Amino acid sequence: MSTKDERHAEAMAKQKAKVDANIARADEERGVAVLLTGNGKGKSSSAFGMVMRALGYGQSVGVVQFIKGKQLSGEEIYLREKCPQVDFYQMGTGFTWNTQDRSGDIAAAEKTWAEAARMLADERLDLVVLDELTYMLAYDYLDESTVLSAITARPVAQSVVVTGRGGGSALRDVMDTVSEVKDIKHAFKAGIKARKGVDF
Ligand code: ATP
Ligand code: MG
Repeated sequence: MSTKDERHAEAMAKQKAKVDANIARADEERGVAVLLTGNGKGKSSSAFGMVMRALGYGQSVGVVQFIKGKQLSGEEIYLREKCPQVDFYQMGTGFTWNTQDRSGDIAAAEKTWAEAARMLADERLDLVVLDELTYMLAYDYLDESTVLSAITARPVAQSVVVTGRGGGSALRDVMDTVSEVKDIKHAFKAGIKARKGVDF
């Protein structure tokens, strides 16, 4: 073995010892609360990656999208058509982002939240995705303490994924994993149209 190989082997052994120690230390078995936030692309698509993972193990999954219903997406089509076992709910056309119809939007947000709250209380669900939930908090359409209580009081074995920019420090505090997707560059800003299968 060359000295370079030896040094590499030594470094790998050290790394492995570190990883093994961390694995041994992480002995708590429970669901995790994940927040995917930030301005870059990759929050919702990561959440749906976890949906795929969970389904791969035959786990039960619930998804609630806090977005306007007219934006059709590949994940919606796929889950509705190919995964009838997934509990899927979308805010739908009741929501307008129209400042003139704030009370209508709040009503739509609350109706959608009722579905999310039902899922967060359902012991049968292994994974619950609350896509774009942060905006409901940012716009004060949902009561923050109600949302945070439901997340923290969920069944021990259930994991929850929340996506969306912002969301506030109280939300961060109750989550176990918080990742910020940073915008370095985005095709859209260079004039490239949003792409089917990539962006929606
Ligand atoms: P994705 O669903 O692709 O994972 P996301 O959930 O991180 O994206 P959202 O803010 O929910 O981001 O926006 C969804 C749409 O906006 C997608 O089409 C995505 O490509 C686009 N988008 C996300 N980030 C940016 C950005 N920084 N600039 C322009 N468009 C963006
Ligand atoms: Mg998103």
